[in-house]
Amino acid sequence: MRIGGHVSAAGGIHQAVPRAQAIRANCGQIFFTGPTSWRSVQLKAGITEQFTTACGNHDIRPWVAHAVYLINLASADERIWNNSIHSLMLYRTLGLQAGLSGIVLHTGSHSGAGLASVLPRVIAGLEAVLSRQPEGPPLLLEICAGQGGAIGVSFSELGQVIKALGNDTRLGICLDTCHALAAGYDIRTAGGITTMIDELDRSLGVERLRAIHANDSQFGLASHRDRHANIGEGFIGEAGFAALLAHDVLRQLPWILETPGTNGSGPDLDNINRLRRLAGEELVPDSKDATSSIP
Ligand SMILES: [Zn+2]
Ligand SMILES: [Zn+2]
Repeated sequence: MRIGGHVSAAGGIHQAVPRAQAIRANCGQIFFTGPTSWRSVQLKAGITEQFTTACGNHDIRPWVAHAVYLINLASADERIWNNSIHSLMLYRTLGLQAGLSGIVLHTGSHSGAGLASVLPRVIAGLEAVLSRQPEGPPLLLEICAGQGGAIGVSFSELGQVIKALGNDTRLGICLDTCHALAAGYDIRTAGGITTMIDELDRSLGVERLRAIHANDSQFGLASHRDRHANIGEGFIGEAGFAALLAHDVLRQLPWILETPGTNGSGPDLDNINRLRRLAGEELVPDSKDATSSIP
């Protein structure tokens, strides 16, 4: 299986590869810029080649980028709305250069007014990105916990957005397990997972699902609160993850951790190994363990 995590790309995206290797990740996610900044960046000459070569050598794929948190395609504020469009275009440009498989984004917020009130605005924003920029990785709309009127609290909401864009094939979905539970999908049992996947398939088609954000949740079912927990330490629990990892559709996708980490340092080998164990896979030993076992 493809199990990895969000890693820092500080110092250049090629630096994300050794960081992924250090936690035995075989897929990953990065930010190109600070997640709370509209700053523009360029990839220095030679960096994308170093990145793709290293990923090829170590078989770490696919990679996605997470868009900045400031994006709000529903915003009535022209500056925020325009910046959101430009930031997504920047990420797709860089993502194309680096050969990424998707740009994950939080679509925006209707601030409690309901999706219908802002749908034309959201559609116009996504249309602007896709029409000005035919090429580039797909935009992966992330399911959200629904806090503060965040758009994407259900697959049917995301389905409305994608349908309104003519089912453009450059749009997909990212399933964050913490957000899904908090949004009200009971993914703690095989039955609940089947119900969720059925709804996803009816609303969007299951092939729209391109990535999993594998996070346990500090808050319970339908809490509408977004707080990630380490695998097995939250309300999804080990049994929930075992059931998720056993699902045929979900197993084919990249699983990307955004967990706090055992030492608070972010996604780590310990959390990756928890998923591998629950998936029934062999664990990759830490190099420290491997050497210490030699007498
Ligand atoms: Zn996210
Ligand atoms: Zn996420």
